[in-house]
Amino acid sequence: MVQSEHAFAWPDGKRAAVSLSFDDARPSQLDNGLPILDRHGVRATFYVSPNRARERLDDWRAAAAAGHEMGNHTVTHPCSGNFPWSRTNALEDYTLERMERELLDANAFIREALGVAPTTFAYCCGQKYVGRGASLQSYVPLVARHFVVGRGFRDESVNDPTFVDLAQAGGIESDGATFDDLRAWIERARDAGGWVIFVSHDVGGGFPHQAIRAEVLDALCAYCADPAHGLWLDTVAAVGAWVRRWQRQAIYT
Ligand SMILES: [Zn+2]
Repeated sequence: MVQSEHAFAWPDGKRAAVSLSFDDARPSQLDNGLPILDRHGVRATFYVSPNRARERLDDWRAAAAAGHEMGNHTVTHPCSGNFPWSRTNALEDYTLERMERELLDANAFIREALGVAPTTFAYCCGQKYVGRGASLQSYVPLVARHFVVGRGFRDESVNDPTFVDLAQAGGIESDGATFDDLRAWIERARDAGGWVIFVSHDVGGGFPHQAIRAEVLDALCAYCADPAHGLWLDTVAAVGAWVRRWQRQAIYT
């Protein structure tokens, strides 16, 4: 239960919030994604991986300077060792101390290399634990300590601003989606007064998986930017800060 003197409202009479996020600092985000976003005047959130960002540092710096959000996605992208590429850097072998170092080192990289301080985080592979079995620990509390928002992946619901735990806000996969798929999510958010965060990886054609098609991103931006649809399209940081402001004056009982 939440008790508050003030009913929650999105700014400027908007009926729902939408954020577009892109993970891993993939080059197609710069080459194919940014021109579309910039043409529509849309600010998006990029969860950058330092090793990939280093390959195009000037371009990422320019994107940050243009107002796109640069978020934390760890340094080494640890996921379950069930992914063969993560077997030698598996969450099952992590400790909370090691994970905290990942988070702080990635923050330091983004501050020094891109000139901005991250306030939001994206869980690698959407996974939120370290260790295994009886000694497994959640690293959600670590994320809560260091960030305004922790974004998940492949979640199945939109975020209710009066209830959501911002340390594990849901993220909806937009890779491989049609525009109609994404519009259905936005309509669910609008019906509920909620916040939908889309998650993409590559942008454009020619990718066998994990990519949002350029024409889908273009249609999505146009739809969200149309004032007739009553949507607040902004970064995860901006929307998260708005939600947190309301939640801090509310009393959870
Ligand atoms: Zn990732």
